[in-house]
Amino acid sequence: MIKKLVFATHNEHKKQEVGQLLAPNYEVLSLSDIGCLDDIPETGTTFAENATLKSSYVMENYQLDCFADDSGLEVEALRGAPGVYSARYSGQRGDQVNMEFLLQKMAGVANRKARFKTVISLVQHGKTYLFEGVINGQLRSEPTGRNGFGYDPIFEPDGYQITFAEMELTEKNKISHRAQAMRQLIQFLKKPSKIPEN
Ligand code: IMP
Repeated sequence: MIKKLVFATHNEHKKQEVGQLLAPNYEVLSLSDIGCLDDIPETGTTFAENATLKSSYVMENYQLDCFADDSGLEVEALRGAPGVYSARYSGQRGDQVNMEFLLQKMAGVANRKARFKTVISLVQHGKTYLFEGVINGQLRSEPTGRNGFGYDPIFEPDGYQITFAEMELTEKNKISHRAQAMRQLIQFLKKPSKIPEN
């Protein structure tokens, strides 16, 4: 029997990508597929909290099993900032303005260590499971590259001499924080009994 699973996203592209990986066992539905047009509040202080706010919202309001993701950039010298505030670090939305704001904060700072993190929260059969993906790297002082989004032009993953924005999307998708967390989710959904519960 095909099981229905909601991905708490308004992004149809994201839904299709994951949907393909989970077919034919699961049918993945987006928020619009279930008639949810709400902007689910992300008021948590951690990625896990925000992802779980979204997955539980769907469970509570629609009684459907659901997973949700939350991601961001953590800079060591800024004690983990911008973290959950990555999308609006400068106080405004917009990739360019937030990247420039971060570069200003980091001007003259020698420790350039940073990491991208994704947490996925899955609510299934009344239980919550968490999956995490992390990629470590260094912050450049100037943006390079035109691919990707967000802080990609200033993030150089460890082991590479190029930024995420200089990488082909297929290459980024092999190593990224989001891909790592997604792979864990998919593995869990395919073999649920083998993975310990969080
Ligand atoms: P979201 O939770 O995936 O929507 O990510 C929140 C914010 O974190 C984005 O708006 C970006 O600023 C930043 N971010 C997350 N993932 C990436 C990435 O892969 N590259 C660059 N920025 C990212």
